[in-house]
Amino acid sequence: MELLAGKIPGGAEAIKGISREEYEQMKVDGYNAQEGRPIRTVEGEITEWFSCYDCPVCKNKGAVAFLKDGWYAERECECGPIRKARIRAIHSGMECYLEKRLNNYEAREPWQKEARDLAKGFILDRGNSRRWIAMLGQSGAGKTHLCAAICNQFMAEGMEVAYFAWLTDGQRLMANRFDAGAYSAERERLRKAQVVYIDDLLKTRDGAQVTPTELKTARELFDLRAGKITLVSAEFLAEDLARIDESLAGRLLEHCGKYLYQIEKGAGRNYRLHMGRGQA
Ligand SMILES: [Zn+2]
Repeated sequence: MELLAGKIPGGAEAIKGISREEYEQMKVDGYNAQEGRPIRTVEGEITEWFSCYDCPVCKNKGAVAFLKDGWYAERECECGPIRKARIRAIHSGMECYLEKRLNNYEAREPWQKEARDLAKGFILDRGNSRRWIAMLGQSGAGKTHLCAAICNQFMAEGMEVAYFAWLTDGQRLMANRFDAGAYSAERERLRKAQVVYIDDLLKTRDGAQVTPTELKTARELFDLRAGKITLVSAEFLAEDLARIDESLAGRLLEHCGKYLYQIEKGAGRNYRLHMGRGQA
């Protein structure tokens, strides 16, 4: 009681005049108004748990106070799963994408607005836990921004999102083919995650041709993710992929249905957007 006495008008004398429940409520309010202090590691660095998210609910304390049967009680804040998802994202190479949101995507042209609306529709289609979205075509057209924004929204809702960058994770997966333990661990990660974002599918270094092993790996990835929420971005268009591997292109279109977004750079440096026509 002494701790609180100094904080309220009238001090200890005023406290004597209030009911127990009012007093408990004051403790609750006092706790909830406090800002969390940075948690530091033994090296003195602020922990990822603290820095990865700024929680308006618990003010980064990780707990929220409330009245339980008239008594002060604390519960874990709902930012716990959000922080876990963000830490996983940071460790899987998605850190630079964490600030990408639909509301900071620049949508000046009509096709950009359509693309954003498609991404928004994909997020809101919550009853469909099998949905895929593919954003294909020109680099620099905001595909990665929109995919990252979808992932961030899912993470904010506490879903587990795995990030798979084709150029690095894909190469590692192919290199691990002959290391059964590492290979199956990575496959399990991709199979189990609620959401997987495959970034730059089949991208090659310096425009090299896609190899049969790469196509095989892409087919395996598609198998692992069939019927699970998946995002794919790639620089090719569906028709380019069909020329290399028609069945792979067919499966991509089938999985995505209406959530297909293809941008082609037309004459005059204008982008053209092709939307999917199928049923998701
Ligand atoms: Zn919180």
